Amino acid sequence: MTVAEIFPWQQTIWQQIRQPDSLRRHHALLLKGRKGTGKLGFALALVRSMLCEQVDAAGRVCGKCQDCYWFEQGLHPNFRLLEPEALSVQDGTADRNSEEKQEEAGGTKSGKKPSQQITIAQIRTLDDFIYLSAHQNRYKVVLIHPAEAMNAAAANALLKKLEEPPPEVLFILIAHGTSMIPATILSRCRQIAMPTPDRKLAKDWLIQQGIAQPDFRLAMSSFSPLLALHYDEQQSSPHADFIQSLCVPEKFDPIGLAEKLYKQDLSSVTSWMQKWCYDLMSCHLSGRVRYHLQQMDAIKRQAAVIDPVAVGFLWRDLAASQQLAHHPLNPRLFLEEMFLICAEIIHPASSETR
Ligand SMILES: [Zn+2]
Repeated sequence: MTVAEIFPWQQTIWQQIRQPDSLRRHHALLLKGRKGTGKLGFALALVRSMLCEQVDAAGRVCGKCQDCYWFEQGLHPNFRLLEPEALSVQDGTADRNSEEKQEEAGGTKSGKKPSQQITIAQIRTLDDFIYLSAHQNRYKVVLIHPAEAMNAAAANALLKKLEEPPPEVLFILIAHGTSMIPATILSRCRQIAMPTPDRKLAKDWLIQQGIAQPDFRLAMSSFSPLLALHYDEQQSSPHADFIQSLCVPEKFDPIGLAEKLYKQDLSSVTSWMQKWCYDLMSCHLSGRVRYHLQQMDAIKRQAAVIDPVAVGFLWRDLAASQQLAHHPLNPRLFLEEMFLICAEIIHPASSETR
């Protein structure tokens, strides 16, 4: 479960946001920034500092009061966290109570695959919370994470609440990207750009967390420190296998690979492919590699024989595929097509013999 935490690269924004009255002037905040940079931890720290009875001027909570206790137990009566069911299940924060409420409200029934979306039923569960008086008549906070997971109906229902904001309620929306969020919602939020640490700060922080090979992990995680921290060798083995097969172009088998990977998250597989292409192109043009530091030799060999125009086309297609990866009609075919083009690029001789 994500804990309330302010990361070293968030100190300045923390001080700005904690300015007296900075928060109360708005009904809704939108914290936007790259995935894996600690926005949720920051938001939870912010909520906790608003709820603690004995918070100090710097926003440090006491850790002893009833409010702090409730918050740590995930039971604070003046706080609601809305996440897609799939995230709550993964985090272990899904409680029976909220599942039952969702079912009553016509939401997901048990036995189904947990939803990746925030549903209108979840937004409706807020009604009692935001319109009835708060515990001890204090401030109430709703945290929505990530805001782009709201489907159209949910976003609409939230918009109604933002248009006529109930008093003494703060909505905090977290977004990894704002392109999927309706402009009508964005315009009602104070938007805060959340910082991303530079590579040195991210690396130092990972070392402090006791992480070996911080450079490797950062490169494998698009330089997002929290993704690098949780980079799980076990879970990442399909990725490691994929990189391994790219390293030996003579044996690269598009059909077999598609068969092996079509049940993976296709957006991730597309992004693995994008990173490999990026490194091929970068090495071809400047001799530098950004992501695959440990496969430098293989990248160099391939970069020497690639047709940069073909890689440029594949790069463009991969960006378009990223849009489709969430709903491909046929996942296996989707990957086969992608890998066949890749095979021609990394092993030009293979297409001549075909
Ligand atoms: Zn406290």
